[in-house]
Amino acid sequence: MRVIRARVLGFCAGVRRTVDLAREAAKERRTRLFTMGPLIHNGRALRELEEAGFSVLDEDGLPETLAGSVTVIRAHGVGPAARGELLRRGTKIIDATCPKVRGSQMKALALSRKGFTVFIAGEKDHGEVRGIRMFAPGSLVVENGEEAFETAKALFSRDGAVKTAIIGQTTISGAEYRVICAAIRRFFPALAVYDTICGATAARQEALAGLCDEADALVIAGDPASSNTRRLLAVAKGHAKPAWIVSDASCLPPELGSFGTVGLSAGTSTPDVLIGEIERAIALL
Ligand code: SF4
Repeated sequence: MRVIRARVLGFCAGVRRTVDLAREAAKERRTRLFTMGPLIHNGRALRELEEAGFSVLDEDGLPETLAGSVTVIRAHGVGPAARGELLRRGTKIIDATCPKVRGSQMKALALSRKGFTVFIAGEKDHGEVRGIRMFAPGSLVVENGEEAFETAKALFSRDGAVKTAIIGQTTISGAEYRVICAAIRRFFPALAVYDTICGATAARQEALAGLCDEADALVIAGDPASSNTRRLLAVAKGHAKPAWIVSDASCLPPELGSFGTVGLSAGTSTPDVLIGEIERAIALL
């Protein structure tokens, strides 16, 4: 079986940095280790972190004391209150917030201080969005064009003169972001739009799209719980190619053996070792 790797695949810079910082902390392990929420959207990587001694903290239910421990803040970041709660409980923080996410947090803070009502385009329950919104009290999270329209309409009816701005979740698609911005501009034409989208997800999608002409079928190495991995699957299917998310080399779909050339991509949270294992398993079919 011929396997062609996408030109860009797997860990983005932010996730790689996070995992490296956690590994360093585990090497120096002299204390209890925690991560604030699951560090990465990949079951295999999470099991390895657990074996290295990490436990996962729930932001909404922190233990009363974390004295003497070390806590890694993941690439999605946290809001200022959550950081304060960690420090108050006595843990040492290793801050692995992705610099791009940090940029969005600082932008939200600056806009809020200047009196803007901040829209955030993204998934309400996503850790990154939950963190960013804490930097702009009163911010409004909108997930799609319809919701943006209704939210902007309601805001306009309360205060049509308010200054508005929008920032996007780093992984939102450019097309979705444009639709959301256009819906808000119907009520607030002076909406200040900030480009906070990270190129990492788009680069993986473009590289995968480039493979679709050469490959008969596509495998996306990663965890179905990872939203950017699911988006890669959607790109492959959008090119009318048979495609599967594969989380482990032992669970390749049996139909894969009937294709001559398989393209391989991977989400931003898929470890290199897992990509290599899946690639070798496909080649042996
Ligand atoms: S996708 Fe971009 S913003 Fe998100 S962690 Fe990776 S590099 Fe950072």
